[in-house]
Amino acid sequence: MKILEDRIRRDGTVLPGDVLKVDNFLNHQIDPQLMNELGAEFARRFADAGITKILTVESSGIAPAVMAGLHLNVPVIFARKHKSLTLTDHLYTAKVYSYTKRVNNDISIDRRFLDAKDRVLIIDDFLANGQAVQGLLDIAETAQISVAGVGVVIEKRFQKGHQLVVDAGIQLEALASIASFDHNEVQFAQD
Ligand code: 5GP
Repeated sequence: MKILEDRIRRDGTVLPGDVLKVDNFLNHQIDPQLMNELGAEFARRFADAGITKILTVESSGIAPAVMAGLHLNVPVIFARKHKSLTLTDHLYTAKVYSYTKRVNNDISIDRRFLDAKDRVLIIDDFLANGQAVQGLLDIAETAQISVAGVGVVIEKRFQKGHQLVVDAGIQLEALASIASFDHNEVQFAQD
């Protein structure tokens, strides 16, 4: 998506560890107008997928997920992050290793919000090694709900997550695909 690539070129900074800092429009300060356009684009790409709900993980997935939910007219559920969980009977849970914080988190969704009839779209801000998406896929499997697709604002195509989702046979839509950070410059994939 050109508008997003232009914004990343203008405002993104490459940090050590292959981390792209985009905290003035996505990860700290949020640009609502841009989020709205991203949400509309997700809705367009998944318009015929029969989605009943959107799943994401707090906190940075929430803004694009809510905008996608607005345009698809479906509820948005964000998995909560915890250091560790004890009483879990009423929760679906999964373990997720955080790419940026380098710690393990448990994520959870209250069972009340998922129904076997649901067909969900997973949305996140970044796709790196695919741990956050895998955690949501694990929850979907436990809840026996079908996954219509995965939508990410930015994928780093050179890391493992892209292939993980493709190999699972799930439709993957990335609104910006980064091929490399050669010389600390963002190179976008050409397709
Ligand atoms: P994964 O679970 O795919 O390894 O990493 C995805 C999660 O880590 C995202 O939810 C995002 O919060 C964070 N993340 C991964 N790579 C980056 C990055 O380059 N920049 C930022 N800001 N967050 C990232």
